Amino acid sequence: MPGGRLYNAPMAEFDVCVRGAGAVGLSAALALARQGLRVALQTGAAPAPSRPDVRAYALNAASVALLASLKVWDALPADARTAVHDMHIEGDALGASLDFSAWSQGVEALAWIVDTAELETALFAAARFAAHLTLTTATEVDASLQVLADGKASAARTQLGVRMPLQSYGQQALAARLLSEHAHGGLARQWFRSPDVLALLPLDRPQAGHGYALVWSLPDERAQALLALPPAQFEAALNDASGGAAGTLRLASERAAWPLALGRAETVCGPGWVLIGDAAHVVHPLAGQGLNLGLGDVTALAEVLAARESWRSPGDMRLLQRYARRRAAPVLAMGQLTDGLLQLFASQQPLLKELRNRGLGLLNQMPPVKRFLAARALDA
Ligand SMILES: Cc1cc2nc3c(=O)[nH]c(=O)nc-3n(C[C@H](O)[C@H](O)[C@H](O)COP(=O)(O)OP(=O)(O)OC[C@H]3O[C@@H](n4cnc5c(N)ncnc54)[C@H](O)[C@@H]3O)c2cc1C
Repeated sequence: MPGGRLYNAPMAEFDVCVRGAGAVGLSAALALARQGLRVALQTGAAPAPSRPDVRAYALNAASVALLASLKVWDALPADARTAVHDMHIEGDALGASLDFSAWSQGVEALAWIVDTAELETALFAAARFAAHLTLTTATEVDASLQVLADGKASAARTQLGVRMPLQSYGQQALAARLLSEHAHGGLARQWFRSPDVLALLPLDRPQAGHGYALVWSLPDERAQALLALPPAQFEAALNDASGGAAGTLRLASERAAWPLALGRAETVCGPGWVLIGDAAHVVHPLAGQGLNLGLGDVTALAEVLAARESWRSPGDMRLLQRYARRRAAPVLAMGQLTDGLLQLFASQQPLLKELRNRGLGLLNQMPPVKRFLAARALDA
C-alpha cells in the first residue's frame, strides 16, 4: 500500500475513501488509517492548503485530545496555539457580565486558540507520511465506505439527494488578526451586543502575549461596510466597540468575512456513505463550536468502526446508523444553543433585554451552573 504519496490514482480498492482535505476530512483519514483501515483521501484539485486564512479556531479539550492522539497537536508551532485561561462575556447593559476561569473549573485551559492555516498544514503533513493512507486527486475511488467531508456546500451530499436547508442569519463573521499594546494574559473576551457579537481570542501570533484573533459577527451590510473601511477607520470602529478593554487594537492582517447560517443534513448516512463536519451541519460561530462538532463526528465514527464486528465491512449500514445515533443529540443541542443565544441577544424587546442581562449577572453568581456550562463546552 503506498504510504501518503500524492498520485493521480487509478481505480483502487480501499476500505474507506474520505472526500475533502479540510481539518475534519484530514483528521478522519488519519484516525481511520491508524486503525489499519486502507484509507484514500480525496484532496480535490488543490491538495496543499496554501491560501492565507486569518481565522483561528477555539478548540475544546475533546478536540485537543483527538489531535494529540493523531500526533498533530505537538507538531503545531508553539505560537500557533494559545491557552485560554479566563473568559469574560459582557451583555448589552452596564455590569451584565459572566466570567469563567480554568482555575475554578479545575482544568488546564478553558479552550485553545489555534491558527487555522497551521492546523491544516500540520494535519496535511501528518497525512502525507501516514501508513495505510493514500492521498489522491482522483474524483472516483472504489471503497467500502465513502466519508463525505467536503464542507458546507458539499457536492457529494447534493449528488446523493440529501437536503441540508440553510437558514441564513443575514450576518457575516468578520475575521482578522490584531495586536494590542496590552498583554492578553490568556483572557478571551466576548461582547453580546444586539445585533453584533464581538470576540477577541488571545493568540500568540503575530506577537507572543499580544496577539488576538478577531471574530465579529455583524449584519451583512455592516460587515461589508467595515470590510471596505480603510484600516485606520476600521481600527477606530473596533476600538470603539471594545471600549479599550483589551488595550488599543491594531490590524495585523487582511480582513475577511464569512456568511453565517444554521443547517443540519436531513440524514447523515446511507448504505456505504456517511456525512461528517460542515457537510453534515453548520452552526453560528458565536460559541466557536463548528470544528469541535466536526472533530466529535470523527471521534464517534472512528470508535464505531473500531468496535465493529469482524464480519461487518466499514460501509455496513448498521454501523453507520450507530454513528448517526451517537451524533444526533450533540449536533441538535449545539444548533439549538447557538441559535437560542443569538435570538436572545438579537431581540430588542425591553423585557427580554432586561432578562438576558439579569440572567448573565445571576449566572455569574452560581458557580455550580457555570461549572456545568463550561464542562459542556469543553467536551461538545
Ligand atoms: C469566522 C469563523 C470562525 C470560526 N471559528 C470556529 C471556532 O472558533 N471553533 C470551531 O470549532 N469552529 C469554528 N468555525 C467553524 C469551522 O470553520 C468549520 O466548522 C470547519 O472549518 C469545518 O471543517 P470541514 O473540514 O468540515 O469543512 P471545510 O473546512 O469547508 O473543508 C472542506 C474541504 O473539502 C474540500 N472539497 C470540496 N469539494 C471537494 C471535492 N469534490 N473533492 C475533494 N475535496 C473537496 C474543500 O476544498 C475543503 O478543503 C468558524 C467558522 C467561521 C466562518
